[in-house]
Amino acid sequence: MATAKIKKTYQKPKGTFDILPEDQKYWEKVRKVFKHIALGYGFDRIDTPIFEHADLFGTSAGETSDIVEKQMYVFKSKGGDMLALRPEGTPGVMRAFMENGLFNMPSPAKLYYLGPFFRYEQPQAGRYRQFHQAGLEVIGDKDPIYDAQVINMLVIAAEELGLKNLNIEINSIGCNKCRPAFRTQLVRYYRARAAKLCKDCKRRLKENPMRLLDCKEEKCEQLKAHAPNLIDHLCEECHDHFKCVLEYLDELEVPYSLNSHLVRGLDYYTKTVFELFLEDEHVEGGSEKTHQRSRLALGGGGRYDNLSKMLGGRDVPAMGAGVGMERIIGIMKRQSIKVAPLWKPDVFLVQLGVLGKKKCLKLFEELRKAGIATGEAFGKDSIQAQLRSADRAGVKLSLILGQKEAIDGVVIVRDMESGSQEAIAMEKVVKIIKDKLKK
Ligand code: AMP
Repeated sequence: MATAKIKKTYQKPKGTFDILPEDQKYWEKVRKVFKHIALGYGFDRIDTPIFEHADLFGTSAGETSDIVEKQMYVFKSKGGDMLALRPEGTPGVMRAFMENGLFNMPSPAKLYYLGPFFRYEQPQAGRYRQFHQAGLEVIGDKDPIYDAQVINMLVIAAEELGLKNLNIEINSIGCNKCRPAFRTQLVRYYRARAAKLCKDCKRRLKENPMRLLDCKEEKCEQLKAHAPNLIDHLCEECHDHFKCVLEYLDELEVPYSLNSHLVRGLDYYTKTVFELFLEDEHVEGGSEKTHQRSRLALGGGGRYDNLSKMLGGRDVPAMGAGVGMERIIGIMKRQSIKVAPLWKPDVFLVQLGVLGKKKCLKLFEELRKAGIATGEAFGKDSIQAQLRSADRAGVKLSLILGQKEAIDGVVIVRDMESGSQEAIAMEKVVKIIKDKLKK
């Protein structure tokens, strides 16, 4: 029996996307600005594997945190290891810090990274299953000045990219000393209202009550409004630390608002936690345009003084933050922020005949080496078609090389605006073109 031919077309997995050439300039710009800022503040780059042992994340973020419990891509390797695609950056960086003895770096170790992360979430605008974050970690110092500096760096990065209407929401979630008393009050408050909680929060009440404050369900949000405030329960050390962070932010003139219910549902956070939001009004829709007010989380972070101990290491205080690159790029497009193309030709090579084509290939190399961005349409034979391509590319000059020019050792340089042409000796062409482009 003949097997029926099945025509199969492939599509990207749900929640992923291709970064097409037309969008690369935005990505490059975000990476460039972030790297430039990180280097300006003395941060070194670190790259950790895209997958790690799954329990690294369970132990650090917490087995019951959403990103570990619901969103982590876990798989068993052929060797039987349980591995996970990294859902966030901090645990991998701390693991690398400990494993590679980066204690010996000048302290604190200031590290930055850029790369993909993976979360199994319901895809929607600005929420993907593979997304990218740029992150900062300051490992080895408990001084609140680093909390303020890391927050400031994100704000500076966003501003340098041209984003407007940023706000920081900030809170302190205390430490192992002051949190237990707060937790007791929180549990008392929520127990009395347990019937009104969503299914997840009923469970959180038993397993990890702090996460009740992180729930985004409407009915839980309402209860949260009157829940006890952590700020009122901070121990002296945490209180002073938070006060200093706010004073430093004031000094840097970073805009922030206090959000006493911000917790950022991961177990490793201590003291300062914050999120960076962008609030703006934009027009949406086709023929029926509507003004939408939106509030989008661009990033966040906090202090994680306990993480190294949770991972079995020595006591190393730390502070970090991450921003979502897709969201930043989405806003750049929405706010019509101009980004220069990555490459734009200054001149265009037009070839004619077998010999002209051969010489053009060599001339292309010389121009490229001299740093002259050179366009070509080597596959086209007609001079008109090549000049049309040159026109579309918007070049100032075209260099025409045919059989006769190749034999005479010259190139015709055509000014695309005036249409005037002149023959220039091949050996002088690079220098003359450079001079012409400077004018
Ligand atoms: P988080 O680590 O959850 O605090 O996320 C930090 C930032 O990463 C968020 O503010 C978003 O900008 C971005 N982000 C988180 N999850 C996603 C996702 N699934 N898709 C796109 N961006 C995300």
